[in-house]
Amino acid sequence: MRRWLPAGLLAFLAAGPLVLSEFYVTLFNYIGLSALVALGLVLLTGVAGLTSFGQAAFVGVGAYATAWLTTAGAAAGWPALLTTPWAGLALGLMLTMLVAAGLGAITLRLSGHFLPLSTIAWGISLYFLFGNLEFLGGHTGLSGVPPLSFAGWELRDPRWFYYLIWLSLLAALFGVRNLLDSRPGRAIRALKGGALMAEAMGVDTARAKLMVFLLAAILASLSGWLYAHLQRFVNPTPFGLPIGIEYLFMAVIGGASEVWGALVGAAVITVLKHWLQDWLPHLFGASGNFEIIVFGFLMIAVLHRAQGGLWPYLSRGFPQPAVRGEAASRRDASLPPMPQRARPEAGVLLLDVKDVVKRFGGLVANDRMNLAVHAGEITALIGPNGAGKSTLFNVISGVEPATSGEVRFLGQRIDGLPARAIARLGMARTFQHVRLLPQMTVLENVALGAHLRGKRGYLSAMLRLSRDEEARLLAEARRHCERVGLADCLHMPAGSLPLGRQRLVEIARALALDPVLLLLDEPAAGLRYLEKQALAALLRVLRAEGLGILLVEHDMDFVMNLADFVVVMEFGKTIAAGRPAEVQNDPAVIEAYLGGLE
Ligand code: ADP
Ligand code: MG
Repeated sequence: MRRWLPAGLLAFLAAGPLVLSEFYVTLFNYIGLSALVALGLVLLTGVAGLTSFGQAAFVGVGAYATAWLTTAGAAAGWPALLTTPWAGLALGLMLTMLVAAGLGAITLRLSGHFLPLSTIAWGISLYFLFGNLEFLGGHTGLSGVPPLSFAGWELRDPRWFYYLIWLSLLAALFGVRNLLDSRPGRAIRALKGGALMAEAMGVDTARAKLMVFLLAAILASLSGWLYAHLQRFVNPTPFGLPIGIEYLFMAVIGGASEVWGALVGAAVITVLKHWLQDWLPHLFGASGNFEIIVFGFLMIAVLHRAQGGLWPYLSRGFPQPAVRGEAASRRDASLPPMPQRARPEAGVLLLDVKDVVKRFGGLVANDRMNLAVHAGEITALIGPNGAGKSTLFNVISGVEPATSGEVRFLGQRIDGLPARAIARLGMARTFQHVRLLPQMTVLENVALGAHLRGKRGYLSAMLRLSRDEEARLLAEARRHCERVGLADCLHMPAGSLPLGRQRLVEIARALALDPVLLLLDEPAAGLRYLEKQALAALLRVLRAEGLGILLVEHDMDFVMNLADFVVVMEFGKTIAAGRPAEVQNDPAVIEAYLGGLE
Protein backbone atom coordinates (compact mmCIF):
# COMPACT_ATOMS: atom_id res chain seq x y z
CA MET A 1 0.00 0.00 0.00
CA ARG A 2 2.67 2.45 1.11
CA ARG A 3 4.81 1.77 -1.90
CA TRP A 4 2.00 2.48 -4.32
CA LEU A 5 0.68 5.61 -2.69
CA PRO A 6 3.03 8.14 -4.36
CA ALA A 7 2.57 6.49 -7.76
CA GLY A 8 -1.19 6.39 -7.22
CA LEU A 9 -1.31 10.07 -6.32
CA LEU A 10 0.79 10.97 -9.35
CA ALA A 11 -1.49 8.94 -11.60
CA PHE A 12 -4.50 10.69 -10.08
CA LEU A 13 -2.87 14.07 -10.64
CA ALA A 14 -2.06 13.20 -14.24
CA ALA A 15 -5.60 11.99 -14.93
CA GLY A 16 -7.23 14.83 -12.97
CA PRO A 17 -8.34 17.16 -15.76
CA LEU A 18 -9.64 14.24 -17.83
CA VAL A 19 -11.99 12.95 -15.13
CA LEU A 20 -12.72 15.87 -12.82
CA SER A 21 -15.42 18.47 -13.29
CA GLU A 22 -14.44 22.02 -14.17
CA PHE A 23 -15.02 23.09 -10.56
CA TYR A 24 -12.45 20.64 -9.23
CA VAL A 25 -9.95 21.40 -11.97
CA THR A 26 -10.13 25.04 -10.96
CA LEU A 27 -9.76 24.11 -7.31
CA PHE A 28 -6.66 22.07 -8.11
CA ASN A 29 -5.28 24.95 -10.13
CA TYR A 30 -5.59 27.24 -7.14
CA ILE A 31 -4.07 24.64 -4.85
CA GLY A 32 -1.08 24.35 -7.18
CA LEU A 33 -0.65 28.13 -7.42
CA SER A 34 -0.81 28.55 -3.64
CA ALA A 35 1.50 25.61 -3.03
CA LEU A 36 4.20 27.34 -5.10
CA VAL A 37 4.08 30.33 -2.79
CA ALA A 38 3.82 28.19 0.34
CA LEU A 39 6.85 26.20 -0.83
CA GLY A 40 8.87 29.39 -0.75
CA LEU A 41 7.64 29.97 2.78
CA VAL A 42 8.60 26.47 3.85
CA LEU A 43 12.10 27.31 2.76
CA LEU A 44 12.11 30.81 4.20
CA THR A 45 10.16 30.35 7.41
CA GLY A 46 10.19 26.64 8.15
CA VAL A 47 13.78 25.87 7.23
CA ALA A 48 15.63 29.17 7.59
CA GLY A 49 13.49 30.58 10.41
CA LEU A 50 12.72 33.89 8.65
CA THR A 51 9.01 34.65 8.97
CA SER A 52 7.39 36.57 6.12
CA PHE A 53 3.82 37.82 5.98
CA GLY A 54 4.48 39.63 2.75
CA GLN A 55 4.80 36.91 0.10
CA ALA A 56 1.53 37.88 -1.56
CA ALA A 57 3.20 41.11 -2.64
CA PHE A 58 5.76 39.15 -4.68
CA VAL A 59 2.92 37.20 -6.28
CA GLY A 60 1.57 40.60 -7.20
CA VAL A 61 4.86 41.75 -8.72
CA GLY A 62 4.90 38.67 -10.96
CA ALA A 63 1.25 39.05 -11.92
CA TYR A 64 1.26 42.79 -12.55
CA ALA A 65 4.53 42.75 -14.48
CA THR A 66 3.20 40.36 -17.08
CA ALA A 67 -0.32 41.85 -17.10
CA TRP A 68 1.03 45.32 -17.70
CA LEU A 69 3.54 44.31 -20.36
CA THR A 70 1.10 42.17 -22.33
CA THR A 71 -1.73 44.73 -22.25
CA ALA A 72 -0.39 48.29 -21.96
CA GLY A 73 2.87 47.41 -23.69
CA ALA A 74 1.02 45.79 -26.56
CA ALA A 75 -1.41 48.69 -26.78
CA ALA A 76 1.49 51.12 -27.01
CA GLY A 77 2.60 49.30 -30.13
CA TRP A 78 5.83 47.81 -28.78
CA PRO A 79 7.47 45.06 -30.83
CA ALA A 80 5.44 41.86 -30.46
CA LEU A 81 8.39 39.94 -29.11
CA LEU A 82 8.63 42.27 -26.10
CA THR A 83 4.99 41.96 -25.14
CA THR A 84 4.56 38.19 -25.06
CA PRO A 85 3.75 36.45 -21.76
CA TRP A 86 7.29 35.07 -21.85
CA ALA A 87 8.70 38.57 -21.86
CA GLY A 88 6.24 39.20 -19.02
CA LEU A 89 7.72 36.30 -17.10
CA ALA A 90 11.22 37.64 -17.61
CA LEU A 91 10.19 41.13 -16.54
CA GLY A 92 8.34 39.78 -13.50
CA LEU A 93 11.29 37.71 -12.35
CA MET A 94 13.70 40.58 -12.89
CA LEU A 95 11.54 43.03 -10.98
CA THR A 96 10.98 40.48 -8.23
CA MET A 97 14.69 39.92 -7.82
CA LEU A 98 15.34 43.66 -7.75
CA VAL A 99 12.60 44.33 -5.20
CA ALA A 100 13.50 41.30 -3.09
CA ALA A 101 17.21 42.10 -3.15
CA GLY A 102 16.45 45.65 -2.06
CA LEU A 103 14.02 44.66 0.68
CA GLY A 104 16.23 41.77 1.76
CA ALA A 105 19.30 43.95 2.05
CA ILE A 106 17.42 46.30 4.35
CA THR A 107 15.28 43.92 6.40
CA LEU A 108 17.09 40.59 6.67
CA ARG A 109 19.57 42.07 9.10
CA LEU A 110 16.76 42.73 11.54
CA SER A 111 16.45 40.21 14.31
CA GLY A 112 13.66 38.81 16.43
CA HIS A 113 10.18 40.13 15.68
CA PHE A 114 11.47 43.10 13.68
CA LEU A 115 11.81 41.03 10.52
CA PRO A 116 8.19 39.72 10.50
CA LEU A 117 7.01 43.25 11.29
CA SER A 118 8.93 44.67 8.38
CA THR A 119 7.47 42.04 6.04
CA ILE A 120 4.03 43.28 7.07
CA ALA A 121 5.15 46.81 6.30
CA TRP A 122 6.33 46.11 2.77
CA GLY A 123 3.46 43.68 2.19
CA ILE A 124 1.04 46.53 2.81
CA SER A 125 3.10 49.10 0.90
CA LEU A 126 3.31 47.04 -2.29
CA TYR A 127 -0.42 46.31 -2.10
CA PHE A 128 -1.24 49.99 -1.96
CA LEU A 129 1.21 50.65 -4.73
CA PHE A 130 -0.65 48.20 -7.00
CA GLY A 131 -3.95 49.83 -6.13
CA ASN A 132 -2.85 53.43 -6.56
CA LEU A 133 -0.71 53.40 -9.68
CA GLU A 134 -2.81 54.58 -12.52
CA PHE A 135 -0.92 52.69 -15.20
CA LEU A 136 -1.70 49.48 -13.28
CA GLY A 137 -5.41 50.23 -13.46
CA GLY A 138 -5.87 51.34 -9.86
CA HIS A 139 -8.27 49.25 -7.82
CA THR A 140 -10.05 47.93 -10.91
CA GLY A 141 -6.82 46.42 -12.17
CA LEU A 142 -5.87 45.33 -15.66
CA SER A 143 -8.02 43.17 -17.90
CA GLY A 144 -7.55 41.62 -21.30
CA VAL A 145 -4.41 39.73 -20.34
CA PRO A 146 -3.70 37.34 -23.22
CA PRO A 147 -3.56 33.57 -22.69
CA LEU A 148 -0.25 31.75 -22.71
CA SER A 149 0.65 30.22 -26.01
CA PHE A 150 3.13 27.58 -27.03
CA ALA A 151 4.21 27.77 -30.67
CA GLY A 152 0.90 29.24 -31.69
CA TRP A 153 -1.22 26.95 -29.53
CA GLU A 154 -3.18 28.97 -26.97
CA LEU A 155 -3.62 27.71 -23.47
CA ARG A 156 -7.14 28.94 -22.80
CA ASP A 157 -8.69 25.91 -21.18
CA PRO A 158 -8.13 25.61 -17.41
CA ARG A 159 -7.84 21.86 -17.96
CA TRP A 160 -4.66 22.35 -19.92
CA PHE A 161 -3.45 25.09 -17.67
CA TYR A 162 -3.68 22.55 -14.87
CA TYR A 163 -0.76 20.63 -16.35
CA LEU A 164 1.40 23.74 -16.59
CA ILE A 165 0.72 24.65 -12.96
CA TRP A 166 1.33 21.18 -11.60
CA LEU A 167 4.42 20.57 -13.68
CA SER A 168 5.83 23.88 -12.44
CA LEU A 169 5.00 22.90 -8.87
CA LEU A 170 6.54 19.43 -9.16
CA ALA A 171 9.67 20.92 -10.69
CA ALA A 172 9.87 23.44 -7.84
CA LEU A 173 9.35 20.71 -5.23
CA PHE A 174 12.09 18.65 -6.86
CA GLY A 175 14.46 21.61 -6.94
CA VAL A 176 13.88 22.70 -3.36
CA ARG A 177 14.19 19.16 -2.05
CA ASN A 178 17.48 18.73 -3.86
CA LEU A 179 18.66 22.05 -2.55
CA LEU A 180 17.93 21.16 1.06
CA ASP A 181 19.87 17.98 0.59
CA SER A 182 23.09 19.70 -0.46
CA ARG A 183 25.98 21.87 0.68
CA PRO A 184 24.15 25.22 0.25
CA GLY A 185 21.06 23.53 1.73
CA ARG A 186 22.94 22.65 4.90
CA ALA A 187 24.04 26.27 5.12
CA ILE A 188 20.40 27.36 4.90
CA ARG A 189 19.34 24.82 7.48
CA ALA A 190 22.12 26.04 9.77
CA LEU A 191 20.59 29.54 9.85
CA LYS A 192 18.04 28.44 12.40
CA GLY A 193 20.80 27.43 14.82
CA GLY A 194 21.97 31.04 14.97
CA ALA A 195 24.51 32.69 12.73
CA LEU A 196 27.41 32.35 15.14
CA MET A 197 28.18 28.68 14.67
CA ALA A 198 27.49 28.70 10.93
CA GLU A 199 29.85 31.63 10.43
CA ALA A 200 32.55 29.84 12.39
CA MET A 201 32.18 26.96 9.90
CA GLY A 202 32.73 29.40 7.04
CA VAL A 203 29.10 29.95 6.01
CA ASP A 204 28.26 33.43 4.75
CA THR A 205 24.97 33.61 6.64
CA ALA A 206 23.94 37.00 5.26
CA ARG A 207 24.26 35.62 1.75
CA ALA A 208 22.41 32.40 2.63
CA LYS A 209 19.53 34.45 4.05
CA LEU A 210 19.37 36.64 0.98
CA MET A 211 19.41 33.60 -1.29
CA VAL A 212 16.44 31.91 0.43
CA PHE A 213 14.63 35.21 0.45
CA LEU A 214 15.19 35.59 -3.29
CA LEU A 215 14.21 32.01 -3.97
CA ALA A 216 10.97 32.32 -2.00
CA ALA A 217 10.19 35.57 -3.82
CA ILE A 218 10.88 33.96 -7.21
CA LEU A 219 8.50 31.08 -6.45
CA ALA A 220 5.83 33.59 -5.43
CA SER A 221 6.42 35.64 -8.56
CA LEU A 222 6.17 32.55 -10.77
CA SER A 223 2.85 31.76 -9.14
CA GLY A 224 1.73 35.31 -9.90
CA TRP A 225 2.68 35.00 -13.55
CA LEU A 226 0.72 31.75 -13.90
CA TYR A 227 -2.21 33.31 -12.06
CA ALA A 228 -2.35 36.35 -14.33
CA HIS A 229 -2.51 34.23 -17.48
CA LEU A 230 -4.97 31.75 -16.02
CA GLN A 231 -7.30 34.44 -14.72
CA ARG A 232 -6.63 36.82 -17.65
CA PHE A 233 -7.06 39.87 -15.43
CA VAL A 234 -5.46 41.17 -12.24
CA ASN A 235 -6.54 43.51 -9.46
CA PRO A 236 -4.83 44.23 -6.13
CA THR A 237 -7.06 42.13 -3.83
CA PRO A 238 -5.24 38.76 -4.09
CA PHE A 239 -1.91 40.41 -3.29
CA GLY A 240 -2.82 42.07 -0.01
CA LEU A 241 -1.71 41.34 3.51
CA PRO A 242 -4.64 39.00 4.39
CA ILE A 243 -3.62 36.69 1.56
CA GLY A 244 0.02 36.97 2.65
CA ILE A 245 -1.07 35.76 6.06
CA GLU A 246 -3.04 32.97 4.42
CA TYR A 247 0.09 31.75 2.62
CA LEU A 248 1.91 31.66 5.93
CA PHE A 249 -0.99 29.68 7.44
CA MET A 250 -0.63 27.18 4.61
CA ALA A 251 3.04 26.63 5.30
CA VAL A 252 2.57 26.33 9.06
CA ILE A 253 -0.55 24.18 8.97
CA GLY A 254 0.85 21.87 6.30
CA GLY A 255 4.20 21.56 8.02
CA ALA A 256 6.83 24.20 7.49
CA SER A 257 9.89 22.00 7.81
CA GLU A 258 9.25 19.70 4.84
CA VAL A 259 8.57 20.62 1.23
CA TRP A 260 5.45 18.44 1.15
CA GLY A 261 3.95 20.54 3.93
CA ALA A 262 3.47 23.34 1.38
CA LEU A 263 1.29 21.10 -0.75
CA VAL A 264 -0.72 19.76 2.18
CA GLY A 265 -1.23 23.23 3.63
CA ALA A 266 -2.22 24.73 0.30
CA ALA A 267 -4.73 21.93 -0.26
CA VAL A 268 -6.25 22.13 3.21
CA ILE A 269 -6.56 25.92 3.28
CA THR A 270 -7.80 26.26 -0.31
CA VAL A 271 -10.46 23.57 0.07
CA LEU A 272 -11.52 24.84 3.48
CA LYS A 273 -11.72 28.38 2.16
CA HIS A 274 -14.05 27.41 -0.66
CA TRP A 275 -16.20 25.40 1.62
CA LEU A 276 -16.30 27.96 4.43
CA GLN A 277 -17.01 30.82 2.03
CA ASP A 278 -20.12 28.93 0.99
CA TRP A 279 -21.34 28.00 4.42
CA LEU A 280 -20.27 30.58 6.95
CA PRO A 281 -22.23 33.53 5.51
CA HIS A 282 -25.37 31.37 5.77
CA LEU A 283 -24.46 30.53 9.32
CA PHE A 284 -23.82 34.12 10.34
CA GLY A 285 -26.60 35.53 8.21
CA ALA A 286 -24.26 38.12 6.76
CA SER A 287 -21.54 38.24 4.14
CA GLY A 288 -17.88 38.67 5.06
CA ASN A 289 -14.57 36.88 5.16
CA PHE A 290 -15.49 34.71 8.12
CA GLU A 291 -13.13 31.96 7.03
CA ILE A 292 -10.24 34.01 8.40
CA ILE A 293 -11.65 33.43 11.90
CA VAL A 294 -11.66 29.69 11.37
CA PHE A 295 -8.12 29.77 9.95
CA GLY A 296 -7.02 31.72 12.99
CA PHE A 297 -8.37 29.11 15.36
CA LEU A 298 -6.98 26.32 13.21
CA MET A 299 -3.56 27.95 13.33
CA ILE A 300 -3.71 28.26 17.12
CA ALA A 301 -4.76 24.61 17.39
CA VAL A 302 -1.89 23.52 15.15
CA LEU A 303 0.62 25.60 17.08
CA HIS A 304 -0.63 24.04 20.30
CA ARG A 305 -1.02 20.44 19.27
CA ALA A 306 1.23 19.83 16.31
CA GLN A 307 3.90 22.42 15.80
CA GLY A 308 5.31 20.43 12.91
CA GLY A 309 1.97 20.81 11.05
CA LEU A 310 -0.08 18.08 9.40
CA TRP A 311 2.56 16.58 7.13
CA PRO A 312 4.37 14.58 9.83
CA TYR A 313 1.07 12.75 10.48
CA LEU A 314 0.25 12.18 6.83
CA SER A 315 3.78 11.16 5.97
CA ARG A 316 3.37 7.98 7.98
CA GLY A 317 1.26 6.62 5.16
CA PHE A 318 4.07 7.15 2.64
CA PRO A 319 7.23 5.12 2.15
CA GLN A 320 9.80 6.53 4.52
CA PRO A 321 12.39 8.58 2.67
CA ALA A 322 16.01 7.53 2.89
CA VAL A 323 17.91 9.26 5.66
CA ARG A 324 19.48 12.40 4.25
CA GLY A 325 22.98 11.78 3.04
CA GLU A 326 22.94 8.05 3.65
CA ALA A 327 23.10 6.93 0.04
CA ALA A 328 25.45 9.72 -1.03
CA SER A 329 27.96 8.97 1.72
CA ARG A 330 28.14 5.35 0.56
CA ARG A 331 29.01 6.20 -3.01
CA ASP A 332 32.48 7.20 -1.94
CA ALA A 333 34.67 4.39 -3.28
CA SER A 334 34.99 5.51 -6.89
CA LEU A 335 35.37 9.22 -6.22
CA PRO A 336 38.69 10.84 -5.33
CA PRO A 337 38.87 12.15 -1.75
CA MET A 338 38.76 15.89 -1.09
CA PRO A 339 42.13 17.58 -1.45
CA GLN A 340 43.84 18.58 1.80
CA ARG A 341 45.41 21.84 2.78
CA ALA A 342 49.22 21.92 2.96
CA ARG A 343 50.24 21.59 6.62
CA PRO A 344 52.99 23.81 8.02
CA GLU A 345 56.03 21.93 9.32
CA ALA A 346 56.15 20.97 12.98
CA GLY A 347 57.32 23.83 15.17
CA VAL A 348 56.11 26.62 12.88
CA LEU A 349 54.36 29.41 14.79
CA LEU A 350 50.67 29.17 13.93
CA LEU A 351 48.94 31.41 16.40
CA ASP A 352 50.40 34.45 18.10
CA VAL A 353 48.21 36.34 20.55
CA LYS A 354 49.71 39.66 21.70
CA ASP A 355 48.38 41.82 24.54
CA VAL A 356 44.77 41.00 23.81
CA VAL A 357 42.28 42.94 25.90
CA LYS A 358 38.59 42.16 25.82
CA ARG A 359 36.17 44.27 27.83
CA PHE A 360 32.47 43.75 28.37
CA GLY A 361 31.42 47.13 29.69
CA GLY A 362 33.30 47.48 32.95
CA LEU A 363 34.38 43.84 33.08
CA VAL A 364 37.82 43.05 31.73
CA ALA A 365 37.47 39.42 30.60
CA ASN A 366 40.91 39.30 28.95
CA ASP A 367 43.58 41.59 30.33
CA ARG A 368 46.66 41.76 28.09
CA MET A 369 46.72 38.08 27.25
CA ASN A 370 49.67 36.56 25.39
CA LEU A 371 49.80 33.10 23.97
CA ALA A 372 51.36 31.10 21.15
CA VAL A 373 50.56 27.80 19.47
CA HIS A 374 52.98 25.95 17.17
CA ALA A 375 52.30 23.29 14.58
CA GLY A 376 52.57 19.80 16.05
CA GLU A 377 52.00 21.05 19.60
CA ILE A 378 49.21 21.01 22.11
CA THR A 379 48.84 24.14 24.22
CA ALA A 380 46.43 23.94 27.13
CA LEU A 381 44.65 26.95 28.56
CA ILE A 382 43.51 26.34 32.10
CA GLY A 383 42.03 28.38 34.89
CA PRO A 384 38.98 28.59 37.11
CA ASN A 385 35.49 29.25 35.75
CA GLY A 386 35.08 32.83 34.61
CA ALA A 387 38.83 33.32 34.08
CA GLY A 388 38.19 34.38 30.48
CA LYS A 389 39.22 31.30 28.51
CA SER A 390 36.14 31.02 26.31
CA THR A 391 36.26 34.76 25.71
CA LEU A 392 39.83 34.43 24.44
CA PHE A 393 38.67 31.60 22.13
CA ASN A 394 35.95 33.88 20.78
CA VAL A 395 38.41 36.67 20.14
CA ILE A 396 40.90 34.37 18.42
CA SER A 397 38.29 32.75 16.20
CA GLY A 398 36.69 36.06 15.23
CA VAL A 399 33.39 35.46 17.00
CA GLU A 400 33.97 38.55 19.17
CA PRO A 401 36.17 41.53 18.29
CA ALA A 402 39.08 42.26 20.61
CA THR A 403 39.00 45.57 22.43
CA SER A 404 42.72 45.95 21.75
CA GLY A 405 45.76 43.83 21.00
CA GLU A 406 46.82 41.69 18.06
CA VAL A 407 46.08 38.19 16.89
CA ARG A 408 48.23 36.67 14.16
CA PHE A 409 47.52 33.41 12.40
CA LEU A 410 50.18 32.00 10.07
CA GLY A 411 51.84 35.39 10.22
CA GLN A 412 48.74 37.30 9.13
CA ARG A 413 46.82 39.77 11.31
CA ILE A 414 43.37 38.25 11.81
CA ASP A 415 41.86 40.41 14.54
CA GLY A 416 39.12 42.30 12.79
CA LEU A 417 38.48 39.55 10.23
CA PRO A 418 35.03 37.92 10.33
CA ALA A 419 34.87 34.38 11.73
CA ARG A 420 34.29 32.82 8.34
CA ALA A 421 37.40 34.43 6.86
CA ILE A 422 39.45 33.02 9.72
CA ALA A 423 37.89 29.60 9.19
CA ARG A 424 38.89 29.81 5.53
CA LEU A 425 42.51 30.35 6.57
CA GLY A 426 42.43 27.00 8.38
CA MET A 427 41.33 27.59 11.94
CA ALA A 428 38.53 25.44 13.32
CA ARG A 429 36.89 25.46 16.72
CA THR A 430 34.39 23.75 18.96
CA PHE A 431 32.07 25.45 21.43
CA GLN A 432 31.96 24.96 25.17
CA HIS A 433 28.17 25.03 25.00
CA VAL A 434 27.65 22.57 22.19
CA ARG A 435 26.22 24.19 19.07
CA LEU A 436 24.82 21.49 16.85
CA LEU A 437 21.73 21.39 14.70
CA PRO A 438 19.80 18.86 16.76
CA GLN A 439 17.39 17.71 14.02
CA MET A 440 20.11 17.17 11.47
CA THR A 441 21.97 13.88 11.45
CA VAL A 442 25.44 13.54 12.90
CA LEU A 443 26.82 13.14 9.38
CA GLU A 444 25.14 16.31 8.13
CA ASN A 445 26.33 18.30 11.11
CA VAL A 446 29.88 17.19 10.43
CA ALA A 447 29.48 17.89 6.71
CA LEU A 448 28.68 21.49 7.59
CA GLY A 449 32.26 21.71 8.80
CA ALA A 450 33.41 20.87 5.26
CA HIS A 451 31.33 23.72 3.83
CA LEU A 452 34.33 25.68 2.57
CA ARG A 453 35.77 22.65 0.81
CA GLY A 454 32.95 22.50 -1.71
CA LYS A 455 32.06 25.20 -4.18
CA ARG A 456 28.92 24.11 -6.01
CA GLY A 457 26.13 26.60 -5.52
CA TYR A 458 22.37 26.81 -5.36
CA LEU A 459 21.50 26.22 -8.98
CA SER A 460 23.61 23.12 -9.45
CA ALA A 461 22.26 21.76 -6.17
CA MET A 462 18.67 22.26 -7.29
CA LEU A 463 19.35 20.62 -10.64
CA ARG A 464 21.21 17.74 -8.98
CA LEU A 465 24.41 18.61 -10.83
CA SER A 466 26.47 18.66 -7.64
CA ARG A 467 25.95 15.02 -6.69
CA ASP A 468 29.61 14.08 -7.09
CA GLU A 469 30.87 16.90 -4.94
CA GLU A 470 28.12 16.18 -2.43
CA ALA A 471 29.15 12.53 -2.23
CA ARG A 472 32.77 13.53 -1.70
CA LEU A 473 31.84 15.99 1.04
CA LEU A 474 29.74 13.40 2.82
CA ALA A 475 32.43 10.77 2.45
CA GLU A 476 34.86 13.22 4.00
CA ALA A 477 32.42 13.94 6.84
CA ARG A 478 31.96 10.23 7.35
CA ARG A 479 35.72 9.72 7.61
CA HIS A 480 35.96 12.28 10.42
CA CYS A 481 32.97 10.78 12.22
CA GLU A 482 34.68 7.41 12.13
CA ARG A 483 37.91 8.97 13.37
CA VAL A 484 36.37 10.37 16.52
CA GLY A 485 34.37 7.20 17.18
CA LEU A 486 30.94 8.11 15.87
CA ALA A 487 30.69 5.45 13.18
CA ASP A 488 27.71 3.83 14.88
CA CYS A 489 25.49 6.90 14.90
CA LEU A 490 26.12 8.63 11.56
CA HIS A 491 22.47 8.88 10.67
CA MET A 492 21.02 9.66 14.06
CA PRO A 493 19.76 13.16 14.83
CA ALA A 494 22.65 14.91 16.58
CA GLY A 495 20.30 16.09 19.32
CA SER A 496 19.55 12.52 20.36
CA LEU A 497 23.14 11.83 21.42
CA PRO A 498 24.36 12.17 25.00
CA LEU A 499 26.27 15.38 25.65
CA GLY A 500 29.68 13.74 25.67
CA ARG A 501 29.16 12.35 22.20
CA GLN A 502 27.76 15.65 20.97
CA ARG A 503 31.13 17.10 21.87
CA LEU A 504 32.74 14.49 19.63
CA VAL A 505 30.43 15.60 16.80
CA GLU A 506 31.75 19.12 17.33
CA ILE A 507 35.32 17.86 17.08
CA ALA A 508 34.56 15.88 13.91
CA ARG A 509 32.88 18.95 12.43
CA ALA A 510 35.95 21.06 13.21
CA LEU A 511 38.23 18.44 11.65
CA ALA A 512 36.09 18.33 8.51
CA LEU A 513 37.18 21.93 7.88
CA ASP A 514 40.69 20.56 7.29
CA PRO A 515 42.26 22.96 9.79
CA VAL A 516 45.90 23.60 10.63
CA LEU A 517 44.88 24.92 14.05
CA LEU A 518 42.18 23.38 16.20
CA LEU A 519 40.61 25.21 19.15
CA LEU A 520 38.83 22.88 21.56
CA ASP A 521 36.77 24.40 24.37
CA GLU A 522 36.36 21.77 27.09
CA PRO A 523 36.16 18.80 24.72
CA ALA A 524 36.38 16.19 27.46
CA ALA A 525 33.59 17.57 29.65
CA GLY A 526 30.88 14.95 29.96
CA LEU A 527 33.03 12.15 28.56
CA ARG A 528 33.54 8.95 30.56
CA TYR A 529 36.97 7.72 31.51
CA LEU A 530 37.47 5.45 28.51
CA GLU A 531 36.08 8.06 26.16
CA LYS A 532 38.55 10.57 27.55
CA GLN A 533 41.37 8.10 26.92
CA ALA A 534 40.19 7.67 23.35
CA LEU A 535 40.01 11.43 22.90
CA ALA A 536 43.52 11.89 24.29
CA ALA A 537 44.78 9.23 21.88
CA LEU A 538 43.08 10.99 18.97
CA LEU A 539 44.58 14.36 19.92
CA ARG A 540 48.03 12.76 20.08
CA VAL A 541 47.58 11.39 16.57
CA LEU A 542 46.43 14.79 15.30
CA ARG A 543 49.44 16.40 16.93
CA ALA A 544 51.72 13.87 15.29
CA GLU A 545 50.13 14.76 11.95
CA GLY A 546 51.30 18.32 12.47
CA LEU A 547 48.13 19.98 13.68
CA GLY A 548 48.39 22.75 16.28
CA ILE A 549 45.88 22.39 19.10
CA LEU A 550 44.72 24.91 21.69
CA LEU A 551 42.73 23.24 24.39
CA VAL A 552 40.67 24.43 27.35
CA GLU A 553 40.12 21.67 29.85
CA HIS A 554 39.38 21.26 33.54
CA ASP A 555 40.53 17.68 33.98
CA MET A 556 44.11 18.15 35.25
CA ASP A 557 45.21 14.56 34.58
CA PHE A 558 43.98 14.88 31.04
CA VAL A 559 45.78 18.19 30.49
CA MET A 560 49.06 17.39 32.22
CA ASN A 561 49.49 14.10 30.37
CA LEU A 562 48.72 15.57 27.02
CA ALA A 563 49.82 19.18 26.71
CA ASP A 564 53.24 20.35 25.59
CA PHE A 565 52.67 23.78 27.03
CA VAL A 566 50.26 25.11 29.63
CA VAL A 567 48.96 28.65 30.15
CA VAL A 568 47.17 29.35 33.42
CA MET A 569 44.63 32.19 33.56
CA GLU A 570 42.88 33.89 36.42
CA PHE A 571 40.72 37.02 36.27
CA GLY A 572 41.58 37.52 32.62
CA LYS A 573 45.36 37.47 33.18
CA THR A 574 48.10 34.90 32.71
CA ILE A 575 49.40 33.86 36.09
CA ALA A 576 51.79 31.17 34.86
CA ALA A 577 52.94 29.55 31.65
CA GLY A 578 55.35 26.75 30.86
CA ARG A 579 55.82 22.99 30.54
CA PRO A 580 53.24 20.99 32.51
CA ALA A 581 55.78 20.02 35.18
CA GLU A 582 56.86 23.65 35.71
CA VAL A 583 53.31 24.93 35.93
CA GLN A 584 52.27 22.20 38.31
CA ASN A 585 54.92 23.30 40.76
CA ASP A 586 54.37 27.02 40.39
CA PRO A 587 53.31 28.41 43.77
CA ALA A 588 50.97 30.97 42.22
CA VAL A 589 49.16 28.22 40.35
CA ILE A 590 48.94 25.96 43.36
CA GLU A 591 47.58 28.87 45.32
CA ALA A 592 45.08 30.09 42.75
CA TYR A 593 43.88 27.03 41.03
CA LEU A 594 45.39 23.67 41.82
CA GLY A 595 45.41 24.52 45.53
CA GLY A 596 41.92 23.25 45.98
CA LEU A 597 42.80 19.92 44.39
CA GLU A 598 45.93 19.09 46.37
P1 ADP B 1 35.80 30.85 31.18
O1 ADP B 1 35.60 30.29 29.82
O2 ADP B 1 37.22 30.95 31.56
O3 ADP B 1 35.01 30.13 32.21
P2 ADP B 1 34.49 33.17 30.09
O4 ADP B 1 35.41 33.62 29.04
O5 ADP B 1 33.29 32.43 29.68
O6 ADP B 1 35.29 32.35 31.19
O7 ADP B 1 34.01 34.45 30.92
C1 ADP B 1 34.92 35.38 31.44
C2 ADP B 1 34.13 36.51 32.06
O8 ADP B 1 33.53 37.29 31.03
C3 ADP B 1 33.00 36.05 32.97
O9 ADP B 1 32.95 36.92 34.07
C4 ADP B 1 31.79 36.18 32.09
O10 ADP B 1 30.66 36.43 32.87
C5 ADP B 1 32.15 37.37 31.23
N1 ADP B 1 31.53 37.32 29.91
C6 ADP B 1 31.72 36.35 28.98
N2 ADP B 1 31.03 36.62 27.86
C7 ADP B 1 30.36 37.79 28.09
C8 ADP B 1 29.49 38.61 27.32
N3 ADP B 1 29.15 38.28 26.07
N4 ADP B 1 29.02 39.73 27.89
C9 ADP B 1 29.36 40.08 29.14
N5 ADP B 1 30.18 39.37 29.91
C10 ADP B 1 30.69 38.24 29.41
MG1 MG C 1 34.56 28.69 29.21
